[in-house]
Amino acid sequence: MERPNVIINCAMSADGKISSFERRQVRISGQRDMDRVRLLRAESDAVMVGVGTVLADDPGLRVKSLDLRNMRRDRGLPEDPLRVVVDSRARTPPRSEVLGKGCILAVSKAATADRLATLRKKCEIVVAGEDRVDLRELLSILKKKGVRKLMVEGGATLNWSLIEAGLVDEISVYIGPIIIGGEGAPTPVDGPGFSRDFPRLELIRADVVDGGVLLRWRVLR
Ligand code: NAP
Repeated sequence: MERPNVIINCAMSADGKISSFERRQVRISGQRDMDRVRLLRAESDAVMVGVGTVLADDPGLRVKSLDLRNMRRDRGLPEDPLRVVVDSRARTPPRSEVLGKGCILAVSKAATADRLATLRKKCEIVVAGEDRVDLRELLSILKKKGVRKLMVEGGATLNWSLIEAGLVDEISVYIGPIIIGGEGAPTPVDGPGFSRDFPRLELIRADVVDGGVLLRWRVLR
């Protein structure tokens, strides 16, 4: 199957959490790491999140910096990468920041017609999968739409599904100087977990950034 190059990017606390136990967003990165994330977003053809992240954080997923928007325009690209929400049942609230031109809502056949009717006015709908979004099919559709580089910005459940399906090439994790705690707080990869055949990683680089550490891993096949 042809698919984009997939990079998961996330920030976690020193104790391995990506948000609080209430699933409230926590500022983990400092300025330099946020600049890196903004650049990575601006250099991607599409940015993807799960509906859990939309419900928790309501991210806009756009390129805010004028310089980066100009950089994309100079390259003949739209000022924002495509914004993709993985949302089997179309639970994305119609007033979510992510919606609008350039947003793709990836749903499954389980999404009801009435929910889709409202959302269709605010974004493109792509159907992949019967009950849950079929990520393999979705990535193939995105590739056909010209997406070569896909940045995944969480959350824990979507990251798990992509890794479990063997659809991830690279993982960037910023480990920030903060403790969040909470046994129910999400980690970079949740889901049911592996009991064997644990995916192995190769470290590409490690840098000290903003008093924390940025790790880049390649996922080995
Ligand atoms: P999520 O991973 O953003 O979204 C998961 C949802 O996506 C699922 O519940 C499912 O809902 C939908 N989905 C559809 N098809 C799927 C598939 N094939 N595989 C997996 N999911 C699929 O939600 P989350 O795990 O709750 O993570 C959200 C938390 O992560 C928030 O607390 C947020 O603040 C945090 N976060 C942190 C960072 C960071 O870098 N620190 C980044 C992003 C998010 P349906 O079954 O209804 O479709």
